[in-house]
Amino acid sequence: MKDISVLLVEDEPGICLTLGDRLAAAGYRVTVRNDGVSGEAAARSERFDILLLDLNLPGRDGLSVCRNLRGDGFAAPILMLTARDGDEDVVAGLREGGDDYLPKPFDPAVLLARMEALLRRSRALVWGGRDGMIRFGPFTLDRDRGALLRDGRPVEVNAREYALLEYLALRPGRVVSRRELLDRVWGRDGDGRTRTVDMHVAKLRSRLGEAEEPRHIRTVHGRGYRFEP
Ligand code: CA
Repeated sequence: MKDISVLLVEDEPGICLTLGDRLAAAGYRVTVRNDGVSGEAAARSERFDILLLDLNLPGRDGLSVCRNLRGDGFAAPILMLTARDGDEDVVAGLREGGDDYLPKPFDPAVLLARMEALLRRSRALVWGGRDGMIRFGPFTLDRDRGALLRDGRPVEVNAREYALLEYLALRPGRVVSRRELLDRVWGRDGDGRTRTVDMHVAKLRSRLGEAEEPRHIRTVHGRGYRFEP
């Protein structure tokens, strides 16, 4: 048993059956929901390591589910399954916080490989999150104490810088917009200026010793920032 839990939200019985079996055979714990509303509820009620999300779902479409979950801080990777191979859906899905997508019909072996790649990428979250620690490079985020450590020694960060770093680190590999950061990290305290985010990111990078050459906090031109563990 890998002790990795997968939430599959998909309304096609055939896919649920074959994929469910395949994932279980590969050692994953699988929970299946067949519509958007109960899928979203399941994602909120239990901890999952990855979400496989069909876009075209009854009740609530996959894009809305993705947007709602990300808006509330759902941090696990989301792999979207789409019947429509339209570029627009893919772009919309990735904008709403999806990490990757797979057009149907797909080979389950390919899906497993994509899934494993996403899980590897978010390992800092998946394995670090359970003991309250997120580790990347020489750094540790101690989430219980709200502290940043480098090789076990405290690095001075203020509360806002810590919150910003934690928000990004909980979403490895995902592009997070400045607007989302303002909403989620600053909330009502924010001045609404995305420049504020940039200034804090610059400060954080210098705290991490990567002011010259960003390693963990990457800029994605025109879109925001992406954390690389
Ligand atoms: Ca469907």
